[in-house]
Amino acid sequence: MEKKEMLYEGKAKKVYATEDPDCVIVTYKDDATAFNGLKKGTIAGKGVINNKMSNMLMVMLEKKGIPTHLVEQIDDRNTIVKKVQIVPLETIVRNVAAGSFSKRYGVPEGLALKNPTVEFSYKSDALGDPFINTSCATALGIATLEEIDTITKLALAVDDALIAFFKELNIDLVDFKLEFGRYKGQIILADEISPDTCRLWEAGTWDTTKHTSLDKDRFRRDLGGVEDAYEEVFKRISGEE
Ligand code: UDP
Repeated sequence: MEKKEMLYEGKAKKVYATEDPDCVIVTYKDDATAFNGLKKGTIAGKGVINNKMSNMLMVMLEKKGIPTHLVEQIDDRNTIVKKVQIVPLETIVRNVAAGSFSKRYGVPEGLALKNPTVEFSYKSDALGDPFINTSCATALGIATLEEIDTITKLALAVDDALIAFFKELNIDLVDFKLEFGRYKGQIILADEISPDTCRLWEAGTWDTTKHTSLDKDRFRRDLGGVEDAYEEVFKRISGEE
């Protein structure tokens, strides 16, 4: 399958049409942004790692019965995926308090949550991805109640699978963001799962001031060692040295 015209360029990926109307090719870039695009940079090798890592995780999730957009990885940076209509809700799942959750509720980063939380942001760069609840999302026609119900169930199933997967690698899954799409009447997992979209902490480093981030927080918070952290996670997932 070959790339035809570029349909969309996002912050971290480009999307190309193909000869198959049901498929697109996603190209992962090394560009990194944070704080709604205010902070910009490059993380060398990130595109390759995120492409391969996201695909490996989607293969694992498919085996657990979670439908995903993955069709086939073409090479280090390019993957064929099903052409979905993205539901403009960023679905955030949390197991441990961190980031905006800690700020919002005044709790320390590293606080273990009594249950996983699922929350939504309305995907809109112009509005800065505002927090949204189910009745506002259905009222605005962003998604139906049935779709939100499916997304919530799938997000929690992804959480269960990812917690167990990362635990084996000595990594605690703190939180992550998912995006879902509509494909032939079904809701399927789309976008990516990578250190760009997950908070991954070295296991046993929950202490609120001392945890070791193996994710994009190293870029957001200028902690240094960004490339090394992405490589370390990828090494553990792939078993590659
Ligand atoms: N996240 C993301 N894209 C966004 C916002 C958040 O991938 O536009 C991920 C982020 O990496 C983290 C989780 O979602 O793993 C929760 O992020 P949070 O709401 O705490 O926002 P942040 O503190 O990153 O602004």
